Amino acid sequence: MFKAILIDKQDGKQSARLADVADSDLPEGAVTVRVEFSTVNYKDGLAITGKSPVVRKFPMVPGIDFAGVVESSDSNDFRAGDRVLLNGWGVGEGHWGGFAQKARVKAEWLQKVPEKFTSKQAMAIGTAGYTASLCVDALVAHGVTPDRGEVLVTGASGGVGSIAIALLAKNGFQVVAATGKANEADYLKALGAAQIIDRNELSQPGKPLQKERWAGVVDSVGSHTLANACAQTRYRGFVAACGLAQGMDFPSSVAPFILRGVSLLGIDSVMAPREPREKAWARLARDLDSAALDRVSNVIGLEQTLQAAEDIVAGKIRGRVVVDVN
Ligand code: NDP
Repeated sequence: MFKAILIDKQDGKQSARLADVADSDLPEGAVTVRVEFSTVNYKDGLAITGKSPVVRKFPMVPGIDFAGVVESSDSNDFRAGDRVLLNGWGVGEGHWGGFAQKARVKAEWLQKVPEKFTSKQAMAIGTAGYTASLCVDALVAHGVTPDRGEVLVTGASGGVGSIAIALLAKNGFQVVAATGKANEADYLKALGAAQIIDRNELSQPGKPLQKERWAGVVDSVGSHTLANACAQTRYRGFVAACGLAQGMDFPSSVAPFILRGVSLLGIDSVMAPREPREKAWARLARDLDSAALDRVSNVIGLEQTLQAAEDIVAGKIRGRVVVDVN
């Protein structure tokens, strides 16, 4: 038996609890992992609270990320004792995930934990940090360099935002952090933000074209914030869009794209192929120092994930929440 968070649905009503689960209930997969740490992402918040239909099968163990040690493997790619991590692939949505002491998954979904990181540090990064790295990779691949001007990071105090700031600052960018938490200014500056702006400057409906300011943008917020970010992006600048913390809508116009040559880069972490994943993790291993990881993360136990889910959906979390499942 092992402990796991189980989401169930009865009479159309969803509920989540800490439960004892038998090994024989684990889903099919080539590799069984003794999970050490997981992490609470925004999507896990949506899954546990039921605020969006993230969970596609019941009962479900949520947790879109985990890191741990291989217990047994039918795959030639992994052996018992290997340190592995998993981000996405629909785990925690359609296949049992990381809020558990054990997981069984397809070998293709696993990757080795970079040497530099412990399992706990890998989960302080988690999908949020790996997505931040995908965003930075996308901007850099399109030629956004520090001499082109400031880079805006929205949702700055969140998981994606915090790690994006650290990665961009390490690469010499002038980072402007948009946050709703004025009291987190010191935290954001310690991560490397050069300037903090109030997110209200971006979150209200704005004109289709505004004063040009950003060479690049990492946006995890969507809605009017993304629309205004595009409208303020400089000629031939790039906007990496990965999130919807404000909303799924995109109330924009084509003006920034057709008059200023602005490009919108869509970032998906869930089904990203192996090559960009490994590149993103290589950037994290190269550019993130462990002091930054300690600064962004708090550790909780499995049972506390239920409250943390409510908090992340309410936008109350700062940085990253690591789950010690044991
Ligand atoms: P967090 O909750 O940690 O961060 C989101 C941040 O957005 C909050 O901390 C807050 O920052 C800001 N925010 C929250 N509500 C609002 C609002 N109503 N208006 C404006 N800003 C708001 O989540 P994550 O960083 O983990 O994820 C961010 C987004 O990215 C989510 O929508 C998530 O689903 C998405 N995502 C997408 C991925 C992909 O593959 N495309 C992968 C990972 C995440 P502050 O208080 O500083 O303003």
